Amino acid sequence: MPTAEIITIGTELLLGEIVDTNTRFIARALRDEGVDIYRTATVGDNAERIAEIIKESLTRAEIVITTGGLGPTVDDPTREAAALAFGVETEYHEALWEQIKDRFRDFGRIPTENNKRQAYIPQNAQVLENLWGTAPAFLVEREDRVLISLPGVPYEMKNLLSDKVMPYLQSHFELKDVIKTRSLHTVGIGESKIDVLIDEFERLENPTVGLAAHRDSVSVRITAKAGSEEAAKALIAEVERQLREILDEWIVDLE
Ligand code: ATP
Ligand code: MG
Repeated sequence: MPTAEIITIGTELLLGEIVDTNTRFIARALRDEGVDIYRTATVGDNAERIAEIIKESLTRAEIVITTGGLGPTVDDPTREAAALAFGVETEYHEALWEQIKDRFRDFGRIPTENNKRQAYIPQNAQVLENLWGTAPAFLVEREDRVLISLPGVPYEMKNLLSDKVMPYLQSHFELKDVIKTRSLHTVGIGESKIDVLIDEFERLENPTVGLAAHRDSVSVRITAKAGSEEAAKALIAEVERQLREILDEWIVDLE
């Protein structure tokens, strides 16, 4: 199974002005396909720093997904950063410029000359047509790795991810594993006591078992990876049965 890293781009994220919901959304989509994520990062709108982190991520992960920085302004540096990371130039695509103008027409607007910047993408990049906005997304393949750059706007990112990116990843990486999770909710018992009681389960590799403490409850999350949804559910069911034997008096079933 390939591994992935997610990089969100935008100074407003670093300043705490907006909350990064894109990472969470992409992480869940990848998790559902069995792709492991070991690391995520956020970086400001600076082409050199973005290029650096893209290069670094590509040394560890087969799939690197970025969001943000694809707009038409000078502070939208992702196209240039991706080109820098691969040591290539950006290249003008007349067809992309036509698409951008079409999209503007759909929205009843007229593109400005700086929108033309969006028609420049790294050499050898493939265009992911963005039907939901004007910022073109793209992917760049290099050996067994791929960089995928998506817009920051969550609505556009989500549509591109499900419509274009996931089908691409499924066929390109022949994704077959499924990851399923199930949470058991407990009340009236502390996290450290549970930790002692189910210590041996927390050392399992598949499914994995982890604890999350909330204000009034502690949840025990079981995560399994398998070749099919049924197989993953079966792995979870067996561990759940054993955990219920130990934690029965504290478990509350919410649904
Ligand atoms: P645009 O063409 O709209 O400029 P873009 O790819 O340049 O697209 P950004 O300018 O980076 O995207 O972000 C546009 C908006 O999307 C931000 O103002 C913010 O509201 C939202 N956004 C960006 N990144 C994220 C993120 N990681 N999580 C949630 N929202 C985000
Ligand atoms: Mg922008």
